[in-house]
Amino acid sequence: MNEMGGLSSRPRLFLVDSMLGRMAKWLRILGFDAVCRRVDTLADLEHHRAQGRLVVTRNTRWKQRPGVFFITADETPEQVRELVTELGIGPEEVRLFSRCLRCNAPLQTVPKASVAHQVPDYVYETVDLFSRCPACSGIYWRGSHSERMAKQLERMTGWMVETMTQRRT
Ligand SMILES: [Zn+2]
Repeated sequence: MNEMGGLSSRPRLFLVDSMLGRMAKWLRILGFDAVCRRVDTLADLEHHRAQGRLVVTRNTRWKQRPGVFFITADETPEQVRELVTELGIGPEEVRLFSRCLRCNAPLQTVPKASVAHQVPDYVYETVDLFSRCPACSGIYWRGSHSERMAKQLERMTGWMVETMTQRRT
């Protein structure tokens, strides 16, 4: 993956087998482009590879194929750790909470006033930064849910996620 031993200049693109849907969500939390689809046939696999995506799967059928990252761990936290470690992904590549967790689209920062009647009152009163998904119109903000995710992520990766969440990307 990283022949030069350094950062690849192209963004990492993942195709996560739908059997690993929770992993796809975590890759999106990290800000990676992670499409989640079934990989039933060799044609599926080749299609995703042709799009420059690394196919992440636990299907032993694809284990020896090029362009496949085979996951051995059983639980989601270990699976995330396995992928991050094996691929040498560092915290500098991470853009935390920059993607829609549902549809994988990059979020856009929006003016606070534009979400006035679309978020709960207490959120509007206490939060200043909002972003919106251009695909599903979902509104995102940093709150207790993202703090929880950041803590989980810290346990998975050993990174100091807390400090990363304070830095706006
Ligand atoms: Zn969305």
